[in-house]
Amino acid sequence: MKLLHHIRRLVTCAAGRDSISDAALVWDADRILWVGPLAELPSAYVHAERYDVDGCLVIPGLVDCHTHLAFGGWRSDEFGLRCKGATYQEIAARGGGIASTMAKTRAASEEELYQRCAGFLYEMTALGVTTVECKSGYGLTVEEELKLLRVYRRLQQTMPQMIVATCLGAHIIPLEYKQDRDGYIDLLCKELLPRVAAEKLASFCDVFVEMGAFSTEEAWEILERGNQLGMRPKLHADQLSDGGGGELAASVRAISADHLEYTNAAGIRAMAQAGVIAVSLPLASLYLNKPPLDARKFLAAGVPVAVATDFNPGSAPSYHLPLAMTLACTMNHLSPAEALRGATIVAAQALGLENEVGSLEPGKRADFVLIDVESVDQWLYHFVPNAATAVYVRGERHETGSRSHS
Ligand SMILES: [Zn+2]
Repeated sequence: MKLLHHIRRLVTCAAGRDSISDAALVWDADRILWVGPLAELPSAYVHAERYDVDGCLVIPGLVDCHTHLAFGGWRSDEFGLRCKGATYQEIAARGGGIASTMAKTRAASEEELYQRCAGFLYEMTALGVTTVECKSGYGLTVEEELKLLRVYRRLQQTMPQMIVATCLGAHIIPLEYKQDRDGYIDLLCKELLPRVAAEKLASFCDVFVEMGAFSTEEAWEILERGNQLGMRPKLHADQLSDGGGGELAASVRAISADHLEYTNAAGIRAMAQAGVIAVSLPLASLYLNKPPLDARKFLAAGVPVAVATDFNPGSAPSYHLPLAMTLACTMNHLSPAEALRGATIVAAQALGLENEVGSLEPGKRADFVLIDVESVDQWLYHFVPNAATAVYVRGERHETGSRSHS
């Protein structure tokens, strides 16, 4: 049994007592036993092994609920073109974009992709990220999609973080099916999704709904098929135009709808009624220089807003979740406290994991981050490469190499 003490402020992100001063946290193996003011420490825990955190802020381990972690190569050549004014759609029309990453991903072996993802996850741990959702979607054949999902399964078995896999076979229509959209959708519904379900390789099924990707009707068919096979729907929706994504997410009982920069008021109301979580991806808005989502509209309607990176080689080539949280404040109009909830408990809800991670409460996984600042406001306001001084994943301490910033 272990105990952190001398915590200046502990932000639980739990319902009720959200922030505790002069706090202590007790855990055993990978589970939290108790959190509260040190002065109220139950006698059962007074002999726990003590660790003085020297006045740090302690927060729950961060949850990145939207990444495209496994991909081959990068696309820095397109970054230069985009900076000079080329649009995402123009680059895609020239064979760049997702199609170019698809070619590099198909050329990479399962072992190469595994090693690369493990390296990304190692660096994400140092930033305080202890749960990561990972999408396939750069294979776009049955075998290549299965290859990516098997990389994620191996990461689930070998990495300390909690890894959650999503099948995004419906990312774009691959070049070889350009003249036969229905053929590709058949391949997804009749071959890929059943095999993913049979091997239990993914918890969720996702579709990119956009001009140049999939229509609302096509997405409905794919997501319903995923639902039948036990994979709850997620959506990339309304990122570059209003495609009715909010209503679609509600109609297929999606656990989350992600992007939503152009979602209309009716869509937001439909999401609220259906209990769909909105996932904001402000790094994509930053890199594409596109209008960001206004989180206040969603919160006012009763839709919780999660914050994630969308880490991918095109529109969001960064896995820096604390940077996304700062941007969620400046671009999406979340308060720092709301951005923290968005990257912890609300993100956990977007993965159906709110009973396991995302807040500091007895019974939950012992995932927490020590940050050498006095408050969440100070942390997200004074951006530094990494403010986390130590990260505990399943109760095990990981050093981050960061110095004090206070
Ligand atoms: Zn995405």
